[in-house]
Amino acid sequence: MAKSIKYRAPRGTHDRLPDEMSLWYHLEGVVREQMRLYNYSEIATPTFEGTELFSRSIGEETEIVEKQMYTFFDKAGRSLTLRPEGTPPVVRSYIEHSLGRRQPLQKFFYIGPMYRQEAPQAGRLRQFHQFGAEAIGAIDPAMDVEMISLLLSICRRLGLKAIALHLGSVGCPRCRPLHREKLLAFLGGSYSLLCPDCQKRYHRNPLRILDCKRERCRELTEDAPSVIDFLCEDCALHFEGVKHHLQQLEIAYTLDRRLVRGLDYYTRTAFEVISANLGAQNAIGGGGRYDELIKELGGDPTPAVGFAAGMERILLAMEKEGCQIAQPPTIGVYVAPVGDRARAFALSLLKDLRQAGISCDGDYLKRSLKAQMRMADRMGASYTVILGEEEMDRNRVLVRGMRESKQEEVGLDRLVGYLIEKLGVRRQGQTV
Ligand SMILES: [Zn+2]
Ligand SMILES: [Zn+2]
Repeated sequence: MAKSIKYRAPRGTHDRLPDEMSLWYHLEGVVREQMRLYNYSEIATPTFEGTELFSRSIGEETEIVEKQMYTFFDKAGRSLTLRPEGTPPVVRSYIEHSLGRRQPLQKFFYIGPMYRQEAPQAGRLRQFHQFGAEAIGAIDPAMDVEMISLLLSICRRLGLKAIALHLGSVGCPRCRPLHREKLLAFLGGSYSLLCPDCQKRYHRNPLRILDCKRERCRELTEDAPSVIDFLCEDCALHFEGVKHHLQQLEIAYTLDRRLVRGLDYYTRTAFEVISANLGAQNAIGGGGRYDELIKELGGDPTPAVGFAAGMERILLAMEKEGCQIAQPPTIGVYVAPVGDRARAFALSLLKDLRQAGISCDGDYLKRSLKAQMRMADRMGASYTVILGEEEMDRNRVLVRGMRESKQEEVGLDRLVGYLIEKLGVRRQGQTV
């Protein structure tokens, strides 16, 4: 009977066990491949930043900043926060290293863990993973459409079919005041029915009420006026441009009149990619334009657009759709020694095989030959080298082809060369 478990992973975290990692390698591989095709360069920022970077950019009245940030004080009394999302750190880095001076348009991507203290009943993770892309420097609606096309390409390449693009516009600081006025008038009569958070938002940032997760608030805002009806001339023109280019690329979309996203920094274009298979938490990714954020964080005014996608949700959608994924990794050779002399020889042989670029493994538990053969099978070895005492005396070994279930005697002096040839290892360092 196992002892009772003393330490468990913190609530809302998940161990990615070896069996699961091949899915992650596959997903990350597709992301990196597509990012390369679209010419985005990887950037990696710290997992924590000064708290103000997030509260200032994401917005004080948002769910994330109000309720979900992991904020702590370090020993010097600085307020730090585990990153709840990827865009503010990338923008901070862009400004800090004056990356805009090198090239007028910079295209970045990132992959990594994010942290939000979500309500446990929602079944969401508190450490989750996202990949995202940011294009900083272009105002052209074609840039927005490249961003959307990139996210959809990744989804398609992963085999996801039951997905839909939702598109909206959240306007800019010039066109929002009129919408704000109409929204306040619309909500005024039902003010007392709004949740306490939304009553606060009513005075400080009413647009955020459209983003409230509570049933009552959602019902009350069902027919609320949309920013789309109040866009200024420039924003309307930009939105038309985005729709035009989407048509040009034959990308279908649903116009979403109340798409506001959970972040304050968005301007103009906002979009989400929705999976039909994920129930209530159905967005697998989304993004939009953030033309004011770089100036807001102290940089030169620079237009930008980006997206982020949830990797756990994508894997779940792939599972629901039965998407084909890469097989778990296997090894080239399993070395099965019998007896002490053979075991000592096995250690050198494994080293020689690895130096020749052949992935291999052996026995360190003094198991029987039968148990070792089962092990070789489980590891998916292409060949098993059996080091039997009688054969070793004659400087020979048995090599068993596991797929064809045939074995052959091979001299020790040509064993490594024989396996290299069988496995088709073309040059040193290339693993099989
Ligand atoms: Zn505008
Ligand atoms: Zn509310």
